[in-house]
Amino acid sequence: MIKEVLVLGGGSAGFIAAISIKRKIPQLKVLVVRSPSIGVIGVGESTTPNFPPHLFEYLGISRKRFYALAQPTWKLGIRFLWGARGSFDYTFNLQLDTHYADLAKPTGYYCDDDFNDASLPGALMRRDMAFPRQENGAPDIHGWHAFHIENKKFIEILEIVAKEEGVEVTDGKVTGSERGDKGISAVHLEDGRRLTADLFIDASGFRSELLGKTLEEPFVSFDKSLFCKKAVIGGWERGPDEPILPYTTAETMDAGWAWRIDHEHLINRGYVYCPDHISDDEAAAEFQRKNPKAKIEPKIVNFRSGFYQRQWVDNVVAFGNAGGFVEPLESTAIMILCSHVQTLVDFLLHSDLEPTPTMQRLYNDLTANTWNDIRQFLSLHYKFNGKLDTPFWKVAREETDVSGIADFIEFYQENGPTGFCRYQLPRSENDFGLEGFLVMMVGNQVPYKKRYKATQQEAQAWARRKQQFAQEANRGIRSEEALAYIKHPGWQWNSDATK
Ligand SMILES: Cc1cc2nc3c(=O)[nH]c(=O)nc-3n(C[C@H](O)[C@H](O)[C@H](O)COP(=O)(O)OP(=O)(O)OC[C@H]3O[C@@H](n4cnc5c(N)ncnc54)[C@H](O)[C@@H]3O)c2cc1C
Repeated sequence: MIKEVLVLGGGSAGFIAAISIKRKIPQLKVLVVRSPSIGVIGVGESTTPNFPPHLFEYLGISRKRFYALAQPTWKLGIRFLWGARGSFDYTFNLQLDTHYADLAKPTGYYCDDDFNDASLPGALMRRDMAFPRQENGAPDIHGWHAFHIENKKFIEILEIVAKEEGVEVTDGKVTGSERGDKGISAVHLEDGRRLTADLFIDASGFRSELLGKTLEEPFVSFDKSLFCKKAVIGGWERGPDEPILPYTTAETMDAGWAWRIDHEHLINRGYVYCPDHISDDEAAAEFQRKNPKAKIEPKIVNFRSGFYQRQWVDNVVAFGNAGGFVEPLESTAIMILCSHVQTLVDFLLHSDLEPTPTMQRLYNDLTANTWNDIRQFLSLHYKFNGKLDTPFWKVAREETDVSGIADFIEFYQENGPTGFCRYQLPRSENDFGLEGFLVMMVGNQVPYKKRYKATQQEAQAWARRKQQFAQEANRGIRSEEALAYIKHPGWQWNSDATK
């Protein structure tokens, strides 16, 4: 029976895993070991909508305290500066996978030429509004938002919460391990300590000390679909004339794409690029040209997209970058972390802390599915981005491997954005839903045979609906004003905030 858990790593993955396990299974002794000399990766600032509920509902962290310490800003989705139309917004609530009663077809068929204001979230994003406004002027804080959080502040608050929960934290560098009949029996620290545990969580980042290095689990590479392998990062302090944008921006660049993440006082940008098509110096120069205010960080971040074939081997389970990583175009790392941690906790609870081989096998199948879903989704982003004709983008359009999602693409190209496309996805229960895939197809204006011409009556009905969304969004509330509301001592959070 598992009694003691050792978490190797004190980045966001290690602390989220430690807090979740301790909170849900308090009888376990949980120890985090992390190395200040190795440090944390320091990137990973944009999240998805499963993250606020993980913090506030699953872990029970107080919103008031979290907002005060971590100072997050809100993210309603991703603005893609992408595709033939130049720009489109992917929101966290449904835009295209909807069907209004007064229109003959699902919404996507009406968005070929104009994909603006197709939903209230879309209309809010288009106007840089974070929330609709209540009658009393206050923000109506909807549940379809995620956060932007500075990595350093985030880890600081996680460490505070972890210690309050009873998680022990020790500094030390793991330099070796001992094998036993259940897998790893102990790790050795540089300072001479030998630490034992029944379950080891590998959250050691890209080093993947236990799963990758010690157990030598094979790595499944996504390099046939995702060609970017490096990032140059920089940012600047927000000026008084720069509004806080309530979304992540993904801008097409010559040999990849660049994110923009808006924190309250900082604007953070990063150029994710393919080294086969641009050198580090050229990437830095393009980044600087497009972001003259940015102070570029001296380090280039290297990564590879893919995952270790099994995330749980013997008595080692990996989370965060130690288990896998898919380039950050959809900011999925923390999303997948929270979902995998919840699955592990359930497996431990359901097996009375004596997990069976079949449970372990199922865990590995389920987690592999989620990695593969992200690969399929991101491959569409590259395959259909017709914004630039640089050598990189020509290769991306021609060579990105989308074979895992070929049925969906073929069906879409024959039939257009019907809801029936969902049955052609490799897994309809993926984290992005059909909505995400439709946004990529319609947003990029991927052609399909059965182009629909709306009747005049339909066109009027659609225009009226869009106008309603636009009017409500025009009355919306920007991030700056919404932050002032929630910082007011009289502000009361209620459970509606996460509905
Ligand atoms: C370019 C880029 C952009 C990204 N953007 C996003 C994003 O927008 N959103 C998102 O969700 N994710 C993003 N990510 C992923 C992000 O890195 C992770 O979400 C997150 O930071 C988790 O990191 P981690 O805890 O797995 O690893 P790390 O932060 O690297 O932590 C590893 C920990 O293990 C410890 N450690 C390692 N080896 C040893 C050892 N031998 N002994 C003791 N301690 C050890 C380290 O000291 C550290 O504490 C991005 C990644 C990259 C590369």
